[in-house]
Amino acid sequence: MSLHSWLIPLPDETFTSWLFRCAVDKKCKVFTEVRGQEYFSCATRIGDPDFNFSSPEFMNFCHETGLSPAILIGFFKPEDYPLALFERRFSFCWHCVREDIKKHCLPCWRKSWCYTIFPYCQRHKCLLLVTDETPNFYKPWHAFATPVPKTDPQHELRLHSRRWGGISSQLLDPKFGFKIQVWFRSLKNYRDPQADRSSSSSTPSSLFYFCESIFRLLLFSRTKFSSEGLARYIFNNGNDHIEHLAGDSMDSALLGAARASPYHRMVALVLIGYIFEVFSEMELYEVVSAVELAGYTWPSDVETLGRMCAVGRLQEYREFIGGFPAEYVALNNSVALFVKGASKEAL
Ligand SMILES: [Zn+2]
Repeated sequence: MSLHSWLIPLPDETFTSWLFRCAVDKKCKVFTEVRGQEYFSCATRIGDPDFNFSSPEFMNFCHETGLSPAILIGFFKPEDYPLALFERRFSFCWHCVREDIKKHCLPCWRKSWCYTIFPYCQRHKCLLLVTDETPNFYKPWHAFATPVPKTDPQHELRLHSRRWGGISSQLLDPKFGFKIQVWFRSLKNYRDPQADRSSSSSTPSSLFYFCESIFRLLLFSRTKFSSEGLARYIFNNGNDHIEHLAGDSMDSALLGAARASPYHRMVALVLIGYIFEVFSEMELYEVVSAVELAGYTWPSDVETLGRMCAVGRLQEYREFIGGFPAEYVALNNSVALFVKGASKEAL
């Protein structure tokens, strides 16, 4: 069967979103909703129906439909990483889904909503919202149907992913977090002047991984043995829920970034902007003012922020902090002070 009998995948669309559109579109007769739901529900077996293209289920789909795996992979492979966990891919852009309805009559789910370091829509530069429903095969519809009462000035408070408490987008302009998102992404192309020039230019820089380590530390999951990462409680109301993770190790809790809401990831980006001195003086003043207007306390300095970051079991935490590359810890005075503060907690 050729792809001509199917809907054409949209740019940046996920595989399961395309299956959803093909299944519910009246003109497309080659795929059913029942089969789509079956594929979606195989998540527990294959881990990731959006991006796992080596699973027997995916190969079976290609065999059944006669579609070429290579062509499908070409359309649907991820363009970025790290990826949010499949069952936590509930973040969407309110503007994008409305544009989809106007242009294509059906909403689509985008790959760029699935990357942990992108809590903002790259096109509309707004913080992603979350569906009220647990993600299922129909999540593009649920995204479209998620109510956003525009007359309620507090709606952002209820619709950022924790669904309660926090700084409204009306106070903290999305441009600040979006700036850090762009900066963070750009680190993948950062070339250390000292680095071996013969090393592959397609490998992201270790500065990116250093920054990502701090991002993950800030978003550490709250577990039975540990409190949550800083971005999950600072500038938040109430306690985060406890994650019941297999193994309860530092490694699994550090996957918290892949489980985190757009709001928590936004807080982590803002803190990273502070730690790495990405904000100008005026921008930082505006960020701090917004946080304080929302009733939260900005940390007195970056070393104090570091001290607040300690999570997990002491030995594991100490090893994690000790693994930071010395050349990047010394990147600038602010980063050095942050790591100094974080290390003091590990003494
Ligand atoms: Zn958008």
